This record gives sequence, C-alpha cells and structure tokens, in this order.
Amino acid sequence: MSFPKSRLPREKVLETMREAACADADWRAGRTFSLVYFAGDEVLETVKEAYATFLSTNGLSPFAFPSLQRFESEVCQATAEMLNAPPEAVGTMTSGGTESILMAVKSARDKARAERGVTEPELLLPESAHPAFYKAAHYLGLTCVRIPLAEDFRADVEAAESLVSERTVLMVGSAPGYPHGVIDPIEALSEIARRHGIPFHVDACLGGFLLPWVERLGYEVPVFDFRAPGVTSMSADCHKYGYAARGASTITYRDASLRRYQYYAYTEWPGGLYGSPSMLGSRPGGAIAAAWAVMHLLGEEGYLALAKTTMETTRRLIDGIRATNGLTVLGDPEMSVFAFTTTDGANAFALGEALQQRGWGVDVQHLPPALHLMVTPAHAEVVEPFLADLQGALESVRRGEVSGDSGMAAMYGMAGAMPDRGPLGEMIVEMLGQLLPPRAA
Ligand SMILES: *Cc1c(COP(=O)(O)O)cnc(C)c1O
Repeated sequence: MSFPKSRLPREKVLETMREAACADADWRAGRTFSLVYFAGDEVLETVKEAYATFLSTNGLSPFAFPSLQRFESEVCQATAEMLNAPPEAVGTMTSGGTESILMAVKSARDKARAERGVTEPELLLPESAHPAFYKAAHYLGLTCVRIPLAEDFRADVEAAESLVSERTVLMVGSAPGYPHGVIDPIEALSEIARRHGIPFHVDACLGGFLLPWVERLGYEVPVFDFRAPGVTSMSADCHKYGYAARGASTITYRDASLRRYQYYAYTEWPGGLYGSPSMLGSRPGGAIAAAWAVMHLLGEEGYLALAKTTMETTRRLIDGIRATNGLTVLGDPEMSVFAFTTTDGANAFALGEALQQRGWGVDVQHLPPALHLMVTPAHAEVVEPFLADLQGALESVRRGEVSGDSGMAAMYGMAGAMPDRGPLGEMIVEMLGQLLPPRAA
C-alpha cells in the first residue's frame, strides 16, 4: 500500500481491522492448540484495561513512572517466591521468553569472560531446548553444544557430564521443554553445573507459571526450580500460563551478582547518561502493568483453579488419544503440553492437515514426526468434539483422502527427505522475506 493520504474515520479504521481478523486463529473457542493462552473473559478484560491504562507509559525510565517500577519489582519478587528462590533472589521483566533467554545467556557469557577469561564460550543445552537459545548463541557469539535426549525425551545426564568443557559458560534444562512437554532432570543436570562452577539456567518459560500450582494440586512434579542448589537463573513467561498480555516475561537470578552482568550503561552520549536492564530501550509499560494486574486478580487461588482445569483437560485428551487405535503419546508429559503420533504408519503430517480441514489448529513437529497440543482452560469444553474429529481425521488419512503434500505437511515431508539441513534454513529465511514484500512486488 501507499502511505494513507487522508484521514479515515476512527470507526472505519477499526471496522477494517476487525474484518481483517476474520481469518485469524479461533483461540476463544478452543480450536487452536498453540500461541494463545486464554483464561476467560474476566481475565482478558482486566488485562485489557490494565494495559490500556498504562498504554502510554514507558518502562525505560523508572524515575518518570514509579508505578511501573513498583509493578515490575513486585512481579519479580512474587515470581521469585513462586519459583522457591532464596530471599536475596532478584529479577527483571522482559518482553518475552526469548528476551529472558537472551539475557540469561548474556549474563553467563559476560560472567565467564570477566571471572574466568573465557573468550570462546560454549552453551551446553538439550537437543529439545527452545530455538531462543540458538538465537541467543547466534546473536551473542557462543557455540552450542547439544546434549542428546534419552529414550524418554529428557536430556541424557551422562552425556551432559561428558560434554562439559573449559569453555562451557552456561548449562540449560527445560521445565518443561516445548516439543514433548517433559521436564529435563534439573536436579542432576544442575548438580553437574554446580560441581564445575558453571551457572545453570532453567527454561521455565512454559512451565514457570503452571508447574508450581500443578505440584500443589498433588500431581507428581520433579524438582525443577531454585530448590535445586545448582540452579542460578530461571525464565518464566507471564504471557503464557501467567495469562498476562503478550510482551511480558521474567528472568530470576539466585542473587544480584549474576544479574549484574545483564545490565548495560553508556556514559558518553550527549543525550545523557543511559542505563538499560535488558534488550529493549523503550519498554511497553502496558505489558508490565497487565502482568501485575492479572497476578492480583487471580492470586494463588485463581491460578490453582485454572491449573486444575488445565490438568484435568489435558488428562482427558491424553487418555482419549492413548485409547485411540493407531495413536500414541510421546514420552510421559508432566504438564499440559504434549506430542502424539501415529503407530500404524499413517502420515502424522497428513493427520495434522485433516484436523486443519476440520477446523482445528494443531502444530506439526518433526524428529520424530508428531502433532503437538498446548492445553489451556479454553479447551475444557472441546475435548469430546476434538477426539471425535481426531478419530475421523485418522480414518480419512487411512483411506488416503488426505495426502499430506500441501502446506506445512509438505514442508515437513520435504525436510525429512533432506539429509543436509542448510538449504532448508535458507528456504525458511526466504519465506520470511516473502511475507513482507517490497512495494514494487
Ligand atoms: C515460548 C517458549 C520460549 C520462548 O518464549 P517467547 O515468549 O515465545 O519468546 C522459550 N522456551 C520455552 C520452553 C517456550 O515454551
């Protein structure tokens, strides 16, 4: 488009945008199993109002907006308590899990450089760790060393021990990992790190705001947080199971000495003395305010109730899938995120496509091929219709009605056939570019 020449009435602007959203993922009705964490209208409306109230504030300056400084500080302290961190633990809010992870990696890199003289830093992480770590390594000049997964899709502890080197600046485990929803052996892994004097980060972006309540509800949850003495930092996303507005996550450190390496200051700018805690410069105050609001709206009581619904819904889905001939759940997921696949040779990617045709947004994954569900309270009402459609989808794949050679399924099919992954990465980057073409296209 060209730059709009004239004004459009406000109502027209909003109407056009509402129309544009018609084809968007239907998360409100529980038809989408990724990306959106919906806890009902009361939470949503409160988050909206808090965000809107602080829409124009900027977390870059705690001096101009003491309200934000208070909200951020309180969210960090409450999160630290939730994650069983010691009283001297500190944190920062960030714009999301990726930024929290970038900061954890940066802090560890700079600590190792300053205190151990490490100039070619390595990041030791499970194969299932989130791509944000690879992105952090890419941005920050670290080499990734990957810990293979054991049969149960958790990081292999013995392999991890053998991969520690002089250059390891940070070890990582996930609670849980996104692909299979299983928690890495955090106690054993962090103990290895502690013995070697290496920081250990728990990626609880997904589980940070859910596992504490799941554990309290009496489900079996292995130690995944600061109760393991080797754990030095954790990321937990407010904008996932914290049900805050998108753009809010936390990073918590066992004490201030490691967080010190996260911060940045520049003193020679004519514009003034500059200090910033994280990647962003200007920081959306709305996101910080909304995270504080939802924490107070729900409290432990509210989070426990939502966790109960989420877990019961997950168990119903898992039981239904396990009871379906020709399907199996991968590993033994501890929380509300899991992957399942076919056992009778039916193409899992085609199954994803068949579900899509029936109006379900289910993510596809590979290594091995599987479908992925992230369950929220919004799914409590759709378990039966989903399982019925899943059965129908499976039958139509078996009858050869869905080929699995279009869209995402085709991409994954092709990926599986490519021994060299280099060109695949190029293709993805090319595709990202095509989504935002130049004016002249
Ligand atoms: C979502 C997620 C991240 C990244 O968080 P973003 O908010 O998407 O940047 C990292 N780790 C895990 C396990 C996640 O689920």
